Amino acid sequence: MTSSWSGARMPAVFVGHGSPMNTLEHNRYTQAWHDFGRSVPTPQAIVAISAHWYVNAAVVTAMPWPKTIHDFYGFPDELFAFQYPASGAPELAAEIVELVKPIWIGQDTDSWGIDHGTWSVLAHMFPDADVPVVQLSVDATKTWDEHMELGAALAPLRDKGVLFMMSGNVVHNLRRIRWDSPEGAFDWAHKFDQDTRTVMTERPGDITKLEHHEQYPLASPTPDHFLPLLYLAGMAGAADTTAEVLVGGYAYGSLSMTSFTVA
Ligand code: ZN
Repeated sequence: MTSSWSGARMPAVFVGHGSPMNTLEHNRYTQAWHDFGRSVPTPQAIVAISAHWYVNAAVVTAMPWPKTIHDFYGFPDELFAFQYPASGAPELAAEIVELVKPIWIGQDTDSWGIDHGTWSVLAHMFPDADVPVVQLSVDATKTWDEHMELGAALAPLRDKGVLFMMSGNVVHNLRRIRWDSPEGAFDWAHKFDQDTRTVMTERPGDITKLEHHEQYPLASPTPDHFLPLLYLAGMAGAADTTAEVLVGGYAYGSLSMTSFTVA
């Protein structure tokens, strides 16, 4: 297959994005995202897999100029005014569709764009918005094994200068948020986060076992924020390697900010 994509092998990264306010803030998490962006060769393109595009199909954005989507409410006007004006990469979207066959991925030309799971991170990681971005949805109909398999199927693009940025949270339970505990963690949140770290850094192929972890239902009352991590686990498996912790910590008791990289 011919490809217009070529470049240095890119690491892949899963980011625990936390609150949308991280877009505007500077803290040790946003600093780690920034430093990661500075540490890698300039990507040819970024494929973002965000918890906030959780739909009943696998779809990749294929428009030349994806819009900045403000998919939240109750935040300051400054956040609603934020724009991440990166171009899209329709040719890359088409290549992804071909690459992963017989897995089916549809192309979206007019519905989604770049959502806050992606831009809250890229605002720090690639603040100039000068690298093309496509988003891949998180398909709610897939099993955990199928998410990992898709991650592995996409992995060859890492050797063509494509950077994969998965955005979610290992622990994400908004009903248990404790606003008076900005850096705290419930015991169950800590336990699930630590066990996820052990799996990712020692045997990422075992990540599917976490679906049956005692604390999983509390850590992920809905799976959307955890599932992007399965793509990184699939890529680690494809490279026969393990993940490293980029930065770790907790927010408001029931959010884990842990981020992982795969070299
Ligand atoms: Zn989120």
